[in-house]
Amino acid sequence: MEDCIFCRIIKGKMEAEKVYEDDQIIAIRDIAPVAPLHLLIMPKKHMVNTLDLTTDDGPLMGHIFQVAARLARENGVDGSGFRVVCNNNAGAGQSVFHLHFHLLGGRKFHWPPG
Ligand code: AMP
Repeated sequence: MEDCIFCRIIKGKMEAEKVYEDDQIIAIRDIAPVAPLHLLIMPKKHMVNTLDLTTDDGPLMGHIFQVAARLARENGVDGSGFRVVCNNNAGAGQSVFHLHFHLLGGRKFHWPPG
């Protein structure tokens, strides 16, 4: 989608710090981090949020969570704890409408989240 900033990053039309990429997904560093480690993991195909997922996307979602765990390990937050968060629609805090998962780590987190 031309007007989607994450599609533009995926297509190399906009700058971002990519930390992982394969044929299905990319992970980038968040431009406004809310934790010492704040990465965004997203599918290359455009979907608005998890409401767009179909049963065919099961392997893609499994892959995203496996890569999230790998990036957590590589960044040394596996032992201290980390979160994988997906905001769905504006009321939950979604501001970019291309499905993405925040990988957050490196500080203490509270529950329930704000
Ligand atoms: P959400 O509010 O859950 O939709 O998350 C969107 C995230 O994208 C926010 O944490 C933003 O800081 C981040 N973000 C927005 N634009 C960019 C960008 N150009 N590069 C990296 N991260 C971005």
